[in-house]
Amino acid sequence: MPLDLTRPHTVRSWLLACSLVCALTAPHVAIALHQPATATPPAEPASLPASQPGSQPGPQPGTDAAEAPSDPRINPETGRKVANWPKARHFDHLHMRLDLIFPDLSKPELTGVMTLRAKAQGRTRATMVLDSRGPKIESVTVGGIQATFEVADGKLRIELPRPVPMDEEVTVVLRYSLDYAANRGEGLTFSAGKPDGKGPTEQSTQIHAQGQAELNSRWFPCHDFPNERLATELVVTLPASTDEHPWEVVSNGRLESKVQNPDGTTTWHWNQALPHPPYLVTLGIAKFAVIDIGGPTSARPGLPMPIYVPIGTEEKAVVVFEDTARMVAFFEKLFDEPYPWDMYAQVCVRDFAAGGMENTSATFLMVSAATSAPGSQDDLIAHELAHQWFGNLITCKSWEHLWLNEGWATFAEALWAEEEERQNHPDDPAMARNAYMRSIAQAAQGLRRNNRATAPRFTAMVSNRYSDPERVFSKMDNPYSKGALVIHMLRQRLGDNAFFTGVRLYVDRHKFGTVETDDFRRVLEEVSGQSLEHFFESYALRPGLPKLAIDLAWESGSSTLTIAAEQTQTIDRFNPAYALSLPIVVELEGGGQARTVLEFSERTGRVTLALPARPTDVRIDPDITCLAAVTKRTPLPRAKKPEPEGGGEPASP
Ligand SMILES: [Zn+2]
Repeated sequence: MPLDLTRPHTVRSWLLACSLVCALTAPHVAIALHQPATATPPAEPASLPASQPGSQPGPQPGTDAAEAPSDPRINPETGRKVANWPKARHFDHLHMRLDLIFPDLSKPELTGVMTLRAKAQGRTRATMVLDSRGPKIESVTVGGIQATFEVADGKLRIELPRPVPMDEEVTVVLRYSLDYAANRGEGLTFSAGKPDGKGPTEQSTQIHAQGQAELNSRWFPCHDFPNERLATELVVTLPASTDEHPWEVVSNGRLESKVQNPDGTTTWHWNQALPHPPYLVTLGIAKFAVIDIGGPTSARPGLPMPIYVPIGTEEKAVVVFEDTARMVAFFEKLFDEPYPWDMYAQVCVRDFAAGGMENTSATFLMVSAATSAPGSQDDLIAHELAHQWFGNLITCKSWEHLWLNEGWATFAEALWAEEEERQNHPDDPAMARNAYMRSIAQAAQGLRRNNRATAPRFTAMVSNRYSDPERVFSKMDNPYSKGALVIHMLRQRLGDNAFFTGVRLYVDRHKFGTVETDDFRRVLEEVSGQSLEHFFESYALRPGLPKLAIDLAWESGSSTLTIAAEQTQTIDRFNPAYALSLPIVVELEGGGQARTVLEFSERTGRVTLALPARPTDVRIDPDITCLAAVTKRTPLPRAKKPEPEGGGEPASP
């Protein structure tokens, strides 16, 4: 998803924000944008101490449990594990057509007909259950026969007129109406026209969708979880515009037709023929200006790249988005996978609850993006574009594995920063590397400052302990910034050749599929020959980071430098010492360098170097191969260039 402006963001783009869910460098602010989902666990263990008000009740006095602090992994009243598991898929959803009629665009109301083709999975099925948290269902037919149904607790339960054997397809047709006046960034949002607005776009109604995390079931019934993929069509009918500015409708895929009906209405038919997860289905309605920034002379000829922006902002917006085609061409080459969808639209909408949202083939962005300073939105644009591969073509199976979407999109911001410098300064590779490392170091900075997490009180980046899927996007072990750092560290460990070979294999193997963290690890192990389970356990499956205190001792008589490191983070049975391989660069008087790697898997480690000259500076892990918060407890005497806490500055050219 895009970044949420209310939450601090990671990399350079924190000012821009990207999906509902991006990362933060500023002090952690968790603001619930959406109503909590139903049927969630009782506690909020994701990033709060168990003792915090509102968390689980503590053990009862006089019981054995009263002797021990409550464990946030378990509801102490019931003993039930606090966890979210992927939803079962009793039907494989193949295709959905949604016919929507907006009878009056001054009101947040619509009528809908949903036609769903699905195949029974596993065994004969007598019922079909869909998520439905808003539609008022009027009738259901299955194979043309009226079916009985009930809606309770956000679920639509359909009794099938006859049992459907495994692998047999059924067609379900649902008629419903919807009043979405109360929605703000959840499902469909209605923005009334402002009579004093800046131009025709703001003076008119606007409607936009936001599906992530589990919000699209607020405007159409669906399997509202990322472990489903289906082709979708949206057929949308609107009344005629009453002024000279026509309505525009944008959705996923390709615009098959736009038809003027005899009654004065207009019908847009959008077709997303390749399967995608339900949360990426989108819809935007407004009096937009539409400009295609693609075309035969673009860096990516053949791909339509319309921007939908407020009327009057066209000139500025074209400049803001002008690098999109170069980014598409770059990512296609780097991932060795053609851009997957029929178009790449970027749609600027008002009342948007986040910075951007990577809906399949049609990213939605905050309206201010259209009039931003040239270049200022490049991180956001690169982030949302990268999601078209990482998130949309390959989708996390559950929110537990969200970093495979958001970590990748955030990492792609650094990749584009590197590529842009490479294109601007082809003769100076150090400039590209420095731009890349600045982006990575900025993400690391926020993690070092904010992350003091330990197990089991806090949850790891990869964890199914959360009370609301929205919270996963802003947790302490942030899937954006920490996810990007994990991917960066893997690049460091494997080297570019093995790393990008692995990435291409990962894309090839899992495209149009869902992925778990282990899928990514296994591919990288396969291409590199490395064993990465310990690394993933340390940085993806446990919360927090190493904290290192470094003591430096120079003996001029023997010309030796001793570098001692101590892990000062919590070490206990849940949080053992990390196994670290810390690259160290020693700058020498006269201009030379010495390098070593300090390896240790205990609380402390040390290495002694015999040096040909006096050390002037010691840089701990300058390329961030082992993300840690580093402090020089005992610096070099009279060091000429004291290192800022945490290291990680770009290597000197
Ligand atoms: Zn994102």
